[in-house]
Amino acid sequence: MKRTKTKSKALKAETKARQKQEAALKKRREILTGIWDKTPIGITENHFKHKSLSFGSCNIAQGCVHGCPFCYVTSTFTKPLIKLFQQRGVSDPRAGWGQYLFLRRWDEEHFLKSLAKAELMQIPAGHDGNRAVMFCTTTDPYPVAAGAVEECKAARQLLRYALELIRDRSTLRVRIQTRSPLATEDFDLFKSFGDRLVFGMSIPTLDMKLSHAYEPHAPNVKLRLAALQKAKEAGLNVYVAMAPTYPECNDEDIRTTLLEFRNLDLVTIFHEPINVRGYNVKRIIDSAKDAEASIIPNTSVFDSPVKTMLYGLEQLLAVQRIATELGIADKLKLWPDESLISKSAFMANRQESLKAKYPGIRLTPEQRQWLGKADEQAYQQHLSWVHGWWAKISDWPGVPPQQGWTTPKLPAESPFTVTLPEGLK
Ligand code: SF4
Repeated sequence: MKRTKTKSKALKAETKARQKQEAALKKRREILTGIWDKTPIGITENHFKHKSLSFGSCNIAQGCVHGCPFCYVTSTFTKPLIKLFQQRGVSDPRAGWGQYLFLRRWDEEHFLKSLAKAELMQIPAGHDGNRAVMFCTTTDPYPVAAGAVEECKAARQLLRYALELIRDRSTLRVRIQTRSPLATEDFDLFKSFGDRLVFGMSIPTLDMKLSHAYEPHAPNVKLRLAALQKAKEAGLNVYVAMAPTYPECNDEDIRTTLLEFRNLDLVTIFHEPINVRGYNVKRIIDSAKDAEASIIPNTSVFDSPVKTMLYGLEQLLAVQRIATELGIADKLKLWPDESLISKSAFMANRQESLKAKYPGIRLTPEQRQWLGKADEQAYQQHLSWVHGWWAKISDWPGVPPQQGWTTPKLPAESPFTVTLPEGLK
């Protein structure tokens, strides 16, 4: 009892300190805000590969106030889009990610047209989105910006209105994905969708110091977890995106996070590590410095594609292993990145592992021959594991589970481990 009290006191103090820090950071950050008059709010087809999140997106803004430095959104920026940002005063929209927010304007006719089109869309086989529209995929649906408080409130009203239109004028499903506990204000509306809506938060870790280093401007992870708990209590269908886990997320950290998720009885636990895209590694370094984080992010894991593969694969395998131990592997939907099937990086990792295990070894012709076959076999097993996860369609309440899919076999040891047979040594 005493221990619980001390723990909750410590948690309160930690939360308070973090909130103070967040408030100070928000004050310091200058966010350029405005209206994105170019394209109004609408539903567009997205081109997610293997994610099983949604077939359509509805984004209420250009830019995102959370400015997570690892975010991939900027890697999709085309030259014409960059030009549009520059015309609105953002000189470098990639480097300045998180420092601008342009709310999209509302045009009812445009929205309804896009809704009708989405409703009739023939979703090709393999494009598994559970007929869901996702709010949002390139921004957070619940923005708060110091210089645009009223505008953000108005945007949230528009979000509600758009959701009501989808609920009442279509049969589409909805996936809400946010990092903001402000979403709790809309739980009544979410509830009115029944099984047509799932609500989720991105929570990579519950370690406050780590999250402060990697996403200093996003809301406190403990508050995000509390919002998920509240959603569960409100009777919503809840999922989580454990995305992305950081290089410092070791087994202990992953276990702590997954244990909390287990208590929530989630529809799905999505997971991915950080994937290197465009400028995101530099942004991670700069952002942690700017936020005066107490942890310096270990970005050395991104020094080469070979190292990045090692980090990414280790994290994915750790999540599958620990989720299996905790009895929640059936909830998982892992997102192995396409870079993880690079054969050259895979073989280079096997080489590294061999060198580390047998320092100074000079392979005999027999050993070389054996190794060639073992490498190929390991790679084929790895490919089948990756493809297995890509083929998984995430669960949806009320929809029968995917037929014929089984959890990809977890390798007994790292796919990079090489053990030469005794007789060949
Ligand atoms: S909340 Fe999502 S969209 Fe916004 S910066 Fe973070 S990862 Fe990107």
